[in-house]
Amino acid sequence: MPRYNSVLDAIGNTPLIRLKRASEETGCEIYGKAEFLNPGQSVKDRAGLAIIRDAEDKGLLDPGAIIVEGTAGNTGIGLALVANALGYRTVIVIPETQSEEKKDALRLMGAELIEVPAVPYRNPNNYVKLSGRLAEQLARTHPQGAIWANQFDNVANRDAHVVTTAEEIWHQTAGEVDGFICAVGTGGTLAGTSIGLKRRSGRIKIGIADPMGASLYNYYAHGELKAEGSSITEGIGQGRVTANLEGFTPDFAYQIPDEEALRIVFALVHEEGLCLGGSSGINIAGAIRMAREMGPGHTIVTILCDYGNRYQSKLFNPAFLKEKGLPTPDWIEAKPAEFDIPYE
Ligand code: PMP
Repeated sequence: MPRYNSVLDAIGNTPLIRLKRASEETGCEIYGKAEFLNPGQSVKDRAGLAIIRDAEDKGLLDPGAIIVEGTAGNTGIGLALVANALGYRTVIVIPETQSEEKKDALRLMGAELIEVPAVPYRNPNNYVKLSGRLAEQLARTHPQGAIWANQFDNVANRDAHVVTTAEEIWHQTAGEVDGFICAVGTGGTLAGTSIGLKRRSGRIKIGIADPMGASLYNYYAHGELKAEGSSITEGIGQGRVTANLEGFTPDFAYQIPDEEALRIVFALVHEEGLCLGGSSGINIAGAIRMAREMGPGHTIVTILCDYGNRYQSKLFNPAFLKEKGLPTPDWIEAKPAEFDIPYE
């Protein structure tokens, strides 16, 4: 095992884990990149590190400066841990609908958390737009200055995946990867990994797994930014072509209902010991659909974005699932103990 100088060196270089049932059912080899093993426990540590390093390289960050961001949580956690390690502060604007577990993780990191109502992007008080205006204000008033991380339209996010995620996948599969697919929040992971892999080999196919309520499936499949339905997944589901997605076109596009993703998430806990968040379920459902379309014998990689404990109060809470009309596995219901305890 390597020896690191700081936690920052522990970001990236995550293992690939073979997904047994998904592989067996499709006759393909389907692997998930275990991004929940990053220090901030999500794929977004990579973007957090790259965005801060890029701002430093451009001379935009004085010691003690504030990094402001609008985030569903994971990017904020990544930014906060990198900022703490490098001597900056973080102010995070988050829609109040996001999981309490992510908000707690942000508080634990010492980020200043501003919870705001969840409103669509076209509303001037959308969390992303609020964070941009707050950053402008703090840049003028805070003695050490402030920057806006702007993960959606800052391509330092995508570049992180071109140089790290894509290269890692290429080497981990010894160049034998045939397909890559994931969902889109900012598009950094999908577009960046796609650019990096296609640079290595033009024959590698790319897919987008879009949750319901997002517009990109219709955009890439039918040329129209149009959303249908809704999803309980967090951190994904985009309604516009962000700067990170500019110039990107997938070979395959799928729209995945929550039921399909959650059945996979629940089965993985019990059958494979892997407890993942909802976006990983969307990704794996997409990988299975892509494997079926490409046919047996292919190697397909997707992203295991974060861990299930980040959504314990939602995805693994029977009351929440029932309220949303979603499948509720019987093992998460509270049950009387099955075995008698042999007390003396
Ligand atoms: N899954 C989760 C849980 C996330 O938090 C995010 C980031 N918002 C994504 C997937 C999507 O990643 P990206 O922003 O690179 O598209």
